[in-house]
Amino acid sequence: MEKKSVSVTLEHVTKKFKDVKGKADVIAVNDSHFIIEPGELVTLLGPSGCGKTTTLRMIAGFELPTEGKIYIGNEEVTMLPPNKRDTATMFQSYGLFPHMTVFDNVAYGLKLRKIPQEEIAKRVNETLALVGLASYGDRAPSKLSGGQQQRVALARSLIVTPSVLLLDEPLSNLDALLREQMRIEIRKIQKELGITAVYVTHDRVEAMSLSDRVVVMKDGYIRQIGSPNEIYEDPNSRFVAGFVGKAAFFPVQVKKHDKKIWVCELGGKEVLVERSADNVEVGSEAVLMARPESLRIVESGQGKIEGKVRMNVYLGHSLEAFINTSFGEVLVQIDDPHAKKVFKEGENVSIDFTPDRVRLLNKSEA
Ligand code: ATP
Repeated sequence: MEKKSVSVTLEHVTKKFKDVKGKADVIAVNDSHFIIEPGELVTLLGPSGCGKTTTLRMIAGFELPTEGKIYIGNEEVTMLPPNKRDTATMFQSYGLFPHMTVFDNVAYGLKLRKIPQEEIAKRVNETLALVGLASYGDRAPSKLSGGQQQRVALARSLIVTPSVLLLDEPLSNLDALLREQMRIEIRKIQKELGITAVYVTHDRVEAMSLSDRVVVMKDGYIRQIGSPNEIYEDPNSRFVAGFVGKAAFFPVQVKKHDKKIWVCELGGKEVLVERSADNVEVGSEAVLMARPESLRIVESGQGKIEGKVRMNVYLGHSLEAFINTSFGEVLVQIDDPHAKKVFKEGENVSIDFTPDRVRLLNKSEA
């Protein structure tokens, strides 16, 4: 099954659709421009309607771009039909043939390609073993669980040894536990085969846990591309910050920038910040972003933002405290609640943070 890994390149790709009345254009994808490196798993993440599926369908060849070019490796494939591209697509619905056995479902793509019988048998057995279904070849799909059916669908995509595997929300029909297992499985197989993969999801946990890099999209535009760590720790906008994780946002005035430290005013107090998006200027109003785990609760009057504990939610490994402040409700995550002082519901408290755990974002960029 070994094959050389290839890159996927989108060069200023735009896709416009006519609206239902066939009049105005809907710009589903707007000037997308990025390279997926050989063997990389890249997730397209964003809210419903942001253009993820359209991007994937253009890479697969089910949609043609209005503008721009697409390359798989060095080959331009922009106008090629799906069967002329070295890709395989796995959809949300399994699309298995109910009257065929698991073996025949997986063999189908090879039979179409007129591959000799013996080789088909060898490859089907190898691929079924790869997805953990070695002894299921004779079963009918209806006699399998949802997760097993999804494995058959994965085997069917992989058997044709595509250079690029395209996955469109493949796990959304599964329950939470199975989804987690399959996510790990897909990632393991993708790494093992060194196959380049593009994965569409609107689930941030899925994107964060699966990907080498995540492309965050909104309204047809790419808002940020980065590793899961980069988009979580260093989002470039309030939208990305809020979409990839929980965050509190506080309005600040940026006073000074000196030796990597931004001096800001927050509710009349001076606060220091060590991290900032590129488009924040001294003298401007900005937004200070803080993740729940980067905030601390201290005695009233001792921190930077005053508040009152509204509710403590005990989660075993951590505790979530919801604090009412004049900036709205702020979530603070307390790791190992047994080791730390827990402030009671109704108590007046103060929220504190260190300069290296919070980040400045441009105020006008939503
Ligand atoms: P979801 O998570 O809901 O699948 P998505 O991010 O995958 O959303 P797309 O399906 O790519 O979004 O759609 C992007 C935009 O393009 C949407 O406004 C959608 O209504 C529009 N669109 C998609 N396909 C067509 C089509 N065939 N004709 C007209 N408009 C379309």
